[in-house]
Order: sequence, then C-alpha cells, then structure tokens
Amino acid sequence: MEVIEGPALPLRLRAYFDGDRDGEALRGCLEARLRQIGVEPAGFQIRVGREDERDWNREWRQFYRPVWVTDRIVVHPPWLAVATEGEQIAIAIEPAMAFGTGGHESTQLALAALEATGCRGKSCLDVGVGSGVLSVAALRLGAACVTGVDVDLVAVDNARHNLAANLGAQAARARVLLGGVEAVAGERYDVVVANLEGHLLRPLLGPIAAALEPTGTALFSGLLEGELPRLAVWLEEAGLVVDGVWSKGGWSACRAGWRPPAAG
Ligand code: SAH
Repeated sequence: MEVIEGPALPLRLRAYFDGDRDGEALRGCLEARLRQIGVEPAGFQIRVGREDERDWNREWRQFYRPVWVTDRIVVHPPWLAVATEGEQIAIAIEPAMAFGTGGHESTQLALAALEATGCRGKSCLDVGVGSGVLSVAALRLGAACVTGVDVDLVAVDNARHNLAANLGAQAARARVLLGGVEAVAGERYDVVVANLEGHLLRPLLGPIAAALEPTGTALFSGLLEGELPRLAVWLEEAGLVVDGVWSKGGWSACRAGWRPPAAG
C-alpha cells in the first residue's frame, strides 16, 4: 500500500491486490472492515480499478536520481554513475527493501552532520545501518573502522552488499551486526550516528551514551523538528549536551557531546 498524498489532509491511500479480483467485492470487504473498526465508510471515497501487470522494478528505476546531499557527497543508484572531482564522494546505493537511498531528509541530514563532524581516523558506530549509506560515507570520510547494527536482517544484508560494492577491499574496515546497540556492549566509539525515528531514541540514549568515548560525538537524525527540544532534555539527563543542529524539510538532526564538568 502506498500513501500518495500526505501528510496533509485529505489523505489518499492506494492498495494493489493480486489476481483477477472482483472490484465490487473488494469494495464491500473494505466497507465491512471499516464498519468493524467503528469507521463510517460513507466518509471515504473508495474507487476501484484495474491495473495491468508491469515490471514494477523497472518502472521504479526511472524515478531514482543522484542526490547531491552536500557540495561534497552525492548518493546515486548504481546504474547512474556520477562524475566527481577532488574530495567529492559518490556513494552507490542499490535500492532494495532497506531504508537509506539518499532521498530522505533524515539520511541527508545525517550525512551532512557526519561530514561536518569529521570522521578521519575515528571509530564509528552506525545504529540502524539500513542500506549502509552512513557507514559507507563514514569510511569514505576517512573513518578508521565502522560498525553498523540493525534489528532487521534485510537491512544487514543490504548494508553488507552496499559496503562491499562501494569499498571493495576497504570494506574489511566495516562490520555489520544483526541487533541493537546491545550487540556492541562494552565497546566504545568516537562517533555514534543514529538515524532512527525520534520516538525510538529515548530507550537507546543510555546504551548509546555508554558506547561513546569520553571525547566522543553522538549524531541523531530522523527527528521531526518539533521533537528536538524534548530530545535535548533527554540528552541532558544522559549527561550529553547539544552543540549542533541541522534542519531540512521539517526534519532535524543534532550533534551532542559530553557536558564539560562544572568549573570549580
Ligand atoms: N542509516 C540509514 C537507515 C536509517 S532507517 C539512513 O540513515 O538512511 C532506520 C533503521 O534502523 C532501519 O533499518 C531499522 O530496521 C533500524 N532500527 C530500528 N530500531 C532499531 C534499534 N533499536 N536498533 C538498531 N536498529 C534499529
């Protein structure tokens, strides 16, 4: 199912069903289900139609474009090569089921924050590795080593694929583990980046802080702009203080480090 208009109202949803279904029967099912959950179907315009089978994979491909995230970093699908010069970094991401093809603001802001923070010689932890786009970027920005973790096996496979495809033998400096931050319990990193939905972050702040070197930097993305003040309070509680914010299209990312000890 696909949300084709939103998030402002009216919201339009489109669903596809396999096979030779009777459209009117489908409409009946939908109306009955809506009533079951206490929603009056008359409040909706339900249209049913027929769509010929197409090669969707191929259809979708035409919508992918290279995305210049910063002046330096471009994310592109593997079939659309991008010419780079000097220090510019091109990251090829195979659009698969995992999140992180470069089109979403939260990925773009995380990339901008990584670039601004600098990764050279540092150890990095990528919490919610998804497609691996941030891990590839960290290594390209000179990180000594990167660990990506993800609770989704599809993401783990996709990240490993994209790391190998972008970095060849250098991918040996990366590892991708199935699991959450607990998968690296006891380890410490110079940079921890987490592009997760804001509401998922709170229980992870303690483990993320525990994974941060005393001089380390934590980067958070995936926040709706309005979620920043609340996150800043939670970070304070964990002993961290925000020292940078990036925003775009209603989304935000922020950077935090350990609060300096009070003077005297
Ligand atoms: N890093 C990529 C993908 C972010 S999408 C990018 O910036 O574009 C968020 C990813 O976090 C998803 O792949 C999801 O499976 C994973 N995730 C969600 N909760 C998690 C958790 N508690 N620990 C680790 N990964 C998690």
